[in-house]
Amino acid sequence: LDPLDPNIHSDERAAESALRPSALADFRGQQRVSDQLGLVLAAARQRGTVPDHVLLSGPPGLGKTTLAMIIAAELGASIRISSGPAIQHAGDLAAILSGLTEGEVFFLDEIHRMSRPAEEMLYLAMEDFRVDVVVGKGPGATAIPLEIPRFTLVGATTRAGLLPGPLRDRFGFTAQLDFYASADLEEILVRSSGVLGIRLERAAAIEIASRSRGTPRIANRLLRRVRDYAQVHSDGTLTERIARAALELYEVDPLGLDRLDRGVLDALCRSFGGGPVGLTTLALAVAEEPETIEEVAEPFLVREGFLMRTPRGRVATPRAWQHLGLTPPRQART
Ligand code: ADP
Repeated sequence: LDPLDPNIHSDERAAESALRPSALADFRGQQRVSDQLGLVLAAARQRGTVPDHVLLSGPPGLGKTTLAMIIAAELGASIRISSGPAIQHAGDLAAILSGLTEGEVFFLDEIHRMSRPAEEMLYLAMEDFRVDVVVGKGPGATAIPLEIPRFTLVGATTRAGLLPGPLRDRFGFTAQLDFYASADLEEILVRSSGVLGIRLERAAAIEIASRSRGTPRIANRLLRRVRDYAQVHSDGTLTERIARAALELYEVDPLGLDRLDRGVLDALCRSFGGGPVGLTTLALAVAEEPETIEEVAEPFLVREGFLMRTPRGRVATPRAWQHLGLTPPRQART
């Protein structure tokens, strides 16, 4: 298992939910999003209505599920959770929507992966709190309108651009989550270690934060791994030395690059002379899906200045060559 994989590992669900802040005030970082959302929720509470539907976009592990749960908690509402891939038939969606209670929050993860008919049903539900249930088949089929309780949809997607325009337009509030600054991750680590009863020294928090790819999920995971190491090899206190030794053991790169990132950069530099090379070709070279490269590896590599997306394809920066211990060709030098 890759310790730097931003997707949730199947065995860490319980560990994750223990670390989820349940109030907006405990949600660290993403200040603008958190301020705006706080206002939307406060206004809805004052008016005694359900707030607008909320769309959260951003790479995995940045807090979309957490925010959905916070929205429900702040509204004093319950939450119903599902995901795009789980809703293949419009009927699946109709069943969920008609089973909601008044004011409930409906969290729909990976909303871009819903089937087309379900998507169309959702338009109507979001706008008019109504679904059309089709009864019968062929020319005799009739649509029976069914009123559903007023609810707040919280949709999550890795990229808002993957959503069809008409769906995107039906969200009253859209927030783009970005990678976290190291200082925010340090605070998250301090909070998590408090919850878990871990003694975490500041220097260790800095060390873990800097290798966490700007992602709280990864920071919390590395914290648990370093805790294991500290427990076995010392008195359990997380010091800088312990953190370094543990992260080295788990092959966590000092800059937070993982095997996929290194693979992408390696292929780009060694096989394609630094690019430009098309996404599909690059994906083939590292035996990965183009979507995985685009949604998981690239956002981080671009942000950290290792890779550029150009109209002609992906290009390695001098920093990428340097990190691999290679000499950039003449034109790639700065
Ligand atoms: P996503 O739904 O975007 O994949 P999650 O909401 O599941 O991400 O967050 C992953 C983990 O990171 C959770 O354990 C959560 O508690 C933690 N986390 C995410 N964002 C924050 C934050 N801003 N403050 C504190 N913890 C966070």
